[in-house]
Amino acid sequence: MIASAIGLCYTESIREISYEAMMMDTQRWEIVSWLEPWLYTREALKRCSRCKQEWPATAEYFHRKKTSTDGLDSGCKKCAAEPAREYYEANREKVVESNREYREANREQIAEHKRANREHIAERKREYREANREQIAEYDRQYREANREQIAETDRQYREANPERGRAASARRRARQRGLPDTFTGEQWIQCLEYFNYCCPVCDNQLRDLFGNVKPHADHWIAISYEGDDNPGTVATNMICLCNDCNQSKWATMPDEWLKQKFGTRKVKQISARIAVYFEWTTAQCRE
Ligand SMILES: [Zn+2]
Ligand SMILES: [Zn+2]
Repeated sequence: MIASAIGLCYTESIREISYEAMMMDTQRWEIVSWLEPWLYTREALKRCSRCKQEWPATAEYFHRKKTSTDGLDSGCKKCAAEPAREYYEANREKVVESNREYREANREQIAEHKRANREHIAERKREYREANREQIAEYDRQYREANREQIAETDRQYREANPERGRAASARRRARQRGLPDTFTGEQWIQCLEYFNYCCPVCDNQLRDLFGNVKPHADHWIAISYEGDDNPGTVATNMICLCNDCNQSKWATMPDEWLKQKFGTRKVKQISARIAVYFEWTTAQCRE
């Protein structure tokens, strides 16, 4: 989706595809990695000769082929990219790392694109959901059946995490109870999510489900229970979106100590630096 919108070449769009794949469990891979780009076009559809799915009949979904009547290959790019997917599965860690580098190098471009197209994206998603209601309901039903326990747990967390603004409010409440600063706003929370492209900044887990619902934890980087006088409280420069796994394992541990336990000393620096850069960025936002 990003690849198409900022005009990257095909090799880079494969990269985006495997990036999407990285963020999803394999069961969801096919739907998610192709659902989003689909939303961006209003073109006529063309059926892929291999996977039999319909995609917009554009060079974005089919390789160009001069000898064919419509100028496009008969198979879709996803089928053509099958080797890339196999590569991804065999080299997951390497791909994850290289994708992270890519995203960091293009962070501004990606965020800018999302900002500039926010309404358009929402509108396309709405249209897509309407047009594919039955298919989505069926997928949803199957997924729920296969993942019942996990979903019950996720739903519990989802209720906690939504509405997003309410999440910021409840974090503020806890800070107030302890007499700590509590200026964190819903707007800042959304900004945090967008800054990290709706991924957990620690482990890179995707924070949205298939339907665009957001299920992160608003984590106090320095825990609210930390007794020191230097506890920053519930302020933008101490709030970070973590995935469930990270949030559960971090609990009230101090960040560096937790990162060391979880990832070993070498990675601590890298992750801490990334989060420090974000806190600096958000400090600048607060001043504006
Ligand atoms: Zn295909
Ligand atoms: Zn995480």
